Amino acid sequence: MGTLSGKNIVKKYGKDTVLKNVNIDIETGKIYGLIGRNGAGKTTLLSILTAQNPATEGTVTLDGQPVWENEEALSHICYSREIPQVTMFGPNTLKVKDYLGTAKIFYKNWDEEYAKELVGLFNLNPKKKVSKLSKGMLSALTIIIALASKADITILDEPVAGLDVVAREQFYKLVIDEYAQTGRTFIISTHIIEEAASLFEKVIIIDDGQIVLNENTEDLLSRAYRVSGEDVNVDKATDGYKVYHPESIGRNKVVTVLAEEPVAGFGEDVQVEPVALQNLFYAMCVDGRKEA
Ligand code: ADP
Repeated sequence: MGTLSGKNIVKKYGKDTVLKNVNIDIETGKIYGLIGRNGAGKTTLLSILTAQNPATEGTVTLDGQPVWENEEALSHICYSREIPQVTMFGPNTLKVKDYLGTAKIFYKNWDEEYAKELVGLFNLNPKKKVSKLSKGMLSALTIIIALASKADITILDEPVAGLDVVAREQFYKLVIDEYAQTGRTFIISTHIIEEAASLFEKVIIIDDGQIVLNENTEDLLSRAYRVSGEDVNVDKATDGYKVYHPESIGRNKVVTVLAEEPVAGFGEDVQVEPVALQNLFYAMCVDGRKEA
């Protein structure tokens, strides 16, 4: 399976432009983390990449073929998102087994045995109505559908939002095991960044409708630094670098630096520490970029 590519994607809702000329390539055989603040455009982007929502401008292709109304291309992609508990007709009275049954028909590589195993693992009652599921059970159902779809490209939109810490760790392990066995591509959007950071081989940060980076996580963190010290020294040491979220406390200052490549040193006048993904994300998105 080839690359899933979005080219010059623009999405407008009325006067609001919620995706601003997004270009993205999803390489095969990688686990991607998609992170961004609420309203940044994650769900919109994922729904456009999976042809569930038309782009205002731009194209999405899989292996060079447009995905829009392309059954063959879409049969390789699973986009598992939260199932509504209420529909326009009232509470969603469909049962867990109804959703699993539909997924079985829809996904050509569906693995029934695996689905059953996961239903057991997450302790989900197939006879339960979707409207009666707890948040955790609802998340479990979307995860089961995503994993058992065995789709080459599997996209999970906030899969862990309703899960407790035990179920979240179970989920990360399932993804790692499945990835190790199959090399399927995963895109996982999440708000719970740090505990999932080691899962993500690549990370995509989206801010205000734009992709601010799409990079190997280790490479990214190897060029990110927290530099602190007396403000004049910090300014001198970080001169010429891209600096995010400067914070001053008296005459001391802390900044987050994202250099073009790993830096040998910033000099002896400042303290330098590595930055965790969540903190880098925070620094980059909290008050916009400050170009050097
Ligand atoms: P995220 O998933 O990052 O939280 P979304 O993609 O859901 O962000 O939303 C991006 C922006 O698009 C938000 O400002 C949201 O209000 C707006 N938006 C999303 N869907 C619609 C819609 N159907 N109609 C109008 N605006 C929408």
